[in-house]
Amino acid sequence: MIIEIDPNSGFCFGVVNAIEKAEETLAKDKTLYCIGDIVHNNIEVDRLKGQGLKTINHDEFEKLSNAKVLFRAHGEPPASYIKAKENNIDIIDASCPVVLNLQKRIKKTYWETLENGGQILIYGKKGHAEVNGLVGQTEGHAKVVERVEDLKEIDWNKPVVLFSQTTKTISGFEEITKVLKLKCQNELKINDTICRKVSNRMPNIREFAKKHDVVVFVSGQKSSNGKLLFDVCKQENSQSYFVSHPDELEMTWFTEAKSIGISGATSTPSWLMEQIAENIKLEIK
Ligand code: SF4
Repeated sequence: MIIEIDPNSGFCFGVVNAIEKAEETLAKDKTLYCIGDIVHNNIEVDRLKGQGLKTINHDEFEKLSNAKVLFRAHGEPPASYIKAKENNIDIIDASCPVVLNLQKRIKKTYWETLENGGQILIYGKKGHAEVNGLVGQTEGHAKVVERVEDLKEIDWNKPVVLFSQTTKTISGFEEITKVLKLKCQNELKINDTICRKVSNRMPNIREFAKKHDVVVFVSGQKSSNGKLLFDVCKQENSQSYFVSHPDELEMTWFTEAKSIGISGATSTPSWLMEQIAENIKLEIK
């Protein structure tokens, strides 16, 4: 019996950095606040909660003062930095450098487009934390496009600049760009700002799912990246199972299997996948 953990799975460097910063701070301070889950994985959130990390929402953040607050890898809009200054909040800024760079590009483009009446579009999920941070760079003016139907609001006679949330799929982005290229009557600038740390996982996980008899995919229920990757596993291997916790494993899945692959989302900790591999090994001995 072979059990392999997908070598391409585990946290991306943005999440690794955020967790390291949280742990470094918690080694010195008893309490650290974080706006939103530091990672979309309840087990990892609970582990850090045990060290003193408190997850709050934006309303709670606005009321907080004289405290330390971690800004997670998704990044924050300028309003959060202003509020932190007003309320004497010490920011531990764990915004991913890739996201920060994208925020800067969008901000610069926004001021340029103000002069030519251009429209900034962000291909992403409405209300997603990273998207809110990106829209915040444009004083709320950028339009968020989730699907082709959202392009109805565009004025095709004005210039258009397109960016993407870092975790969206390349295929979805291409679908939007196709329509823009057809319909735009003015200048069109397309910026593919999808993070390859995530998009490269699609082809990799396809191969991984094909080569194993059974795939156990480990992810938090809230992770959109987890749902996408699991769908790919399912397409390639009908014997793919989604679990969030080792307790959810069912040993009947493995009765006929000669090889088992364990993979996870970009928000799944490696230690959890290792624990799942161990549990399977112990049970099927
Ligand atoms: S997915 Fe990419 S952009 Fe997003 S946090 Fe991870 S490394 Fe940064």
